[in-house]
Amino acid sequence: MLSKSKFILGQQCVKSFWFDVNNIKPTNPADDGTKERLSAGNEVGNISKDYFPGGKEVPYLPGEETKMFEITKKYLDEGITSIYEASFVYDDIFVRVDLMNKTEKGWNIYEVKSSTSIRSYHEYDASIQWHVLKELNLIKLNGVFIATLNNDYSKNNKIDPIKFFNIKPVTEIAEEYESEIKKKIRELKEVSKSPKEPLLEIGPHCKKPHGCVYLDKCWPDNIDNINSVFSLYRMNLKKKLNLYNQGIDTFDKIKDKESLSSTQKNQLRAYEEKSPIINTEKIQSFINKVEYPISYFDFETFTDAVPIHDKQRSHMQMPFQYSLHIQNDINEKLNLNDNHYQFIADHEEDPRESIAKSMLKNFPKEGSIMAYNQSFEKRCIESLAEHCPDTAMSEELRALNERFVDLIEPFRGGGYYDSKFKGSFSIKKVLPAICPNNKELDYKELEISNGGMAMSSYKKLRGLPTDSENIKITRDALFEYCRLDTFAMYAIYENLLETIKRNS
Ligand code: SF4
Repeated sequence: MLSKSKFILGQQCVKSFWFDVNNIKPTNPADDGTKERLSAGNEVGNISKDYFPGGKEVPYLPGEETKMFEITKKYLDEGITSIYEASFVYDDIFVRVDLMNKTEKGWNIYEVKSSTSIRSYHEYDASIQWHVLKELNLIKLNGVFIATLNNDYSKNNKIDPIKFFNIKPVTEIAEEYESEIKKKIRELKEVSKSPKEPLLEIGPHCKKPHGCVYLDKCWPDNIDNINSVFSLYRMNLKKKLNLYNQGIDTFDKIKDKESLSSTQKNQLRAYEEKSPIINTEKIQSFINKVEYPISYFDFETFTDAVPIHDKQRSHMQMPFQYSLHIQNDINEKLNLNDNHYQFIADHEEDPRESIAKSMLKNFPKEGSIMAYNQSFEKRCIESLAEHCPDTAMSEELRALNERFVDLIEPFRGGGYYDSKFKGSFSIKKVLPAICPNNKELDYKELEISNGGMAMSSYKKLRGLPTDSENIKITRDALFEYCRLDTFAMYAIYENLLETIKRNS
């Protein structure tokens, strides 16, 4: 049976659809971010029921589509006017409608999304449901709508479902898409019966709207090499594919070098010369901005699709942890635990006030605050300042933002390029290239090794009994991870100072 999610998969790529219906094991299974999005979808789905309270829900019975359809029909016969997860089968296509509500003009059906804006595949989601219900001709229909999250709404005590969602009618779009949907359904049914894997080139569809779980089956093995055209800095995927499809898969095959950006030219040069490209003037101009004491600083944040704290908005970045290493002067050498301050808020409470107070207590009153990609940290500080009821505290927080310097600047600005960066200036790429073979600086040695993992580990603590051992284990792992982020900045900055010394 063709479900709505399989239809959307087939809409993105018939080959991944074929792999999926033939139960081929994914080579690139869903990551933490995808799992987080799925759980956000469930939370939002639960809140959406309050939009039409008092309705009845059709339970999910895996593999029993017909039974779910029977239950839906029973509810309709009983005169229920709001149904959650109403399930329908038509022509071997199965859909579950998030919300349905009967009005004087007929039934309205709603596709509920956990994002704050409508993406084009959401319209296909809504359209296939509209198609199935129209063809079934079981009930009088009025309209189809997409509900997304209103990111201007902040929670105040209880979530108000009317203000929490933005509702957009998409009936006209669903009508417009109807013939396309019918055609696609026919095509997918053929594909699912075929014993042969469909032939299809790789393309932007492999990454959007969702990252394909079969990338390693179709993409070339050498895309992760330091000389792969796929590592060219900020070149859009279409252009990279264009080169690849002409047989230009490595740097040495690129003929039109002049049209490349200066960073891309540096990438080619660093590879050819087998040595980093260093521009001491650019590095020095960054160093000139830095004032001691240096506060190496990093936040970890969480987001919730459904806010749990008052004055929290959907998907708002909520800082819950920071790490701060302080280097008092140029001659001071730090170890991992030297001059180190750290904080993790209680996972059951709104973290904003406690983290702000701790930061203001521990930051030196002067000197540079160094972050890696500062806009994130500065935005978080601004949101803490907005949240603070105390004006003096807000001013103190905003004053911190005046002292930031961004350690990514000398790299992104062309001061330093190493082939091992592979076209990325993220700290996870820069650190091992600049400070290799140092176990103390190896993220792979850690239990939690990226921001996504930090967020999901922290959120998993919610609701655990206070004496749970997991709380201590997770907090320790979080401390270790964030501490490495700021110590890594110190190590990278020291390396830049050394680089200047060596090259002057
Ligand atoms: S990697 Fe691309 S072409 Fe291959 S199955 Fe996935 S989306 Fe389709």
